Amino acid sequence: MHDDIQEILFSEEDIARIVRDLGERLSEDYRGLNPLVVCVLKGAAPFMSDLVRRMDIALEMDYMAVSSYGASSQSSGVVRIMKDLDIPVEGRHVLIVEDIIDTGLTLQYLMDILKRRNPASLKVVTLLDKPERRTEGLVPDYCGVRVPNEFVVGYGLDYAEKYRNLPYIGVLKREVYNA
Ligand code: 5GP
Ligand code: MG
Ligand code: MG
Repeated sequence: MHDDIQEILFSEEDIARIVRDLGERLSEDYRGLNPLVVCVLKGAAPFMSDLVRRMDIALEMDYMAVSSYGASSQSSGVVRIMKDLDIPVEGRHVLIVEDIIDTGLTLQYLMDILKRRNPASLKVVTLLDKPERRTEGLVPDYCGVRVPNEFVVGYGLDYAEKYRNLPYIGVLKREVYNA
């Protein structure tokens, strides 16, 4: 285990099982719909890449990068599109892939933007959900697992761009971000 990690919440094997189960459900629900699966960079990239390989249906993939305006750790709810989708959304069954939903502000804003482009449907799959902190009435359509209100890293999730490559998801030691 990495020195900066206090506790592993989900091992590689746990994550593989969670992703496989989500992939099976999504394959059933999206069969024949050729969904446009949208990865929200950067945190969701490892999840996205594992998830689509557990979906044995025709689908298309695209990537979007957004950044929160203003202060770093607190979500402002106003996001700027840094990289937009290449594939048009109109008439498509769009599935947004997220790493974690905390307050829900970022995702709510993103969904409002995509809704205005008239998709046939718009849903969200998140690997992790922190419902305690939710300020929006947002409930993910598909959720891998709930997490307590702790700052977690690994499997795409960063602190100051670090730890994304950890194969597991763990709680970061407080001394790391209080230093
Ligand atoms: P929200 O707008 O839902 O409050 O913020 C969502 C974003 O905040 C996530 O996509 C992620 O980048 C970041 N975030 C929220 N909670 C955590 C956490 O526990 N760990 C990490 N690494 N990022 C988090
Ligand atoms: Mg995210
Ligand atoms: Mg981050």
